[in-house]
Amino acid sequence: AFWVGVSIGGLSSFYSELMKGLGAGSRLWELLEREPELPFNEGAVLNEKSFQGALEFKNVHFAYPARPEVPIFQDFSLSIPSGSVTALVGPSGAGKSTVISLLLRLYDPGSGTISLDGHDIRQLNPVWLRSKIGTVSQEPILFSCSIAENIAYGADDPASVTAEQIEQAAAVANAAAFIQTFPQGLGTVVGEKGVLLSGGQKQRIAIARALLKVSLKPLGWGALDAENEHLVQQALDRLMEGRTVFIIAHRLSTIKNANVVAVLDQGRIIECGKHEELLLKPDGMYRKLMNKQSFISA
Ligand code: ATP
Repeated sequence: AFWVGVSIGGLSSFYSELMKGLGAGSRLWELLEREPELPFNEGAVLNEKSFQGALEFKNVHFAYPARPEVPIFQDFSLSIPSGSVTALVGPSGAGKSTVISLLLRLYDPGSGTISLDGHDIRQLNPVWLRSKIGTVSQEPILFSCSIAENIAYGADDPASVTAEQIEQAAAVANAAAFIQTFPQGLGTVVGEKGVLLSGGQKQRIAIARALLKVSLKPLGWGALDAENEHLVQQALDRLMEGRTVFIIAHRLSTIKNANVVAVLDQGRIIECGKHEELLLKPDGMYRKLMNKQSFISA
């Protein structure tokens, strides 16, 4: 499992693990069975026009309610300027996915604040906040229904999505060409009951879904590359363009291009800087992580 993209209006972020393998199933059920603790549709909504998407985690302390004795974050602070790409790296279990759970307000910090454009996210309307967050996982979950339905699922109100919007999202996500090879096109049923897709194809559908959610931008990009790997990366680049982005344990190529790499260990950010700078630190954690080759060097 590698990445999920979260995008908040003008801002988007990539992270992993929210739903990973077997753990995914159990965590998903855990979430579905939880009684809502939030006053779900109350709170402030930021002005779309002045909305920037800058994020700040300030002195955040957090432990999961089920394991209060195990602190995940201890004085975790991280500033993410609007429109920047931040790669969050760290050993397995360091809490990378938890950062995103806190951002989505699946949980709230024990102390400290998380703010969006200077507003504590606890003051914001959770429905609005989540509507601004799009995610893409390297192991995306597709439902056993049509490709069109899988893409429309990303929208706040899937029923109101037009065929044209779905087609455009598929095109921007580099999914249109392979979808057209199926006789039923966007109506093709995928998953157990239908066509089985490759990993890269699934990812591009997931990117189309995220694009629809965080608002499509007009097509105007260059020619498509024939290679699958490139098609996914190019689709991701389009999704990330003009948004604030979190990447978790993403492809090395994307980490290298991040404005900032933040290294998480034992609840804190211990290193922060450009990929090249961090590699120069002889005893640095980032260097150690890179040596382990736990990243795909694509
Ligand atoms: P990986 O790189 O392996 O995906 P990660 O850095 O994303 O790891 P998290 O998934 O954020 O790590 O998990 C951080 C810690 O919190 C782990 O020790 C994990 O076991 C624990 N944890 C995660 N979810 C829960 C939960 N719902 N209840 C209790 N503990 C949890």
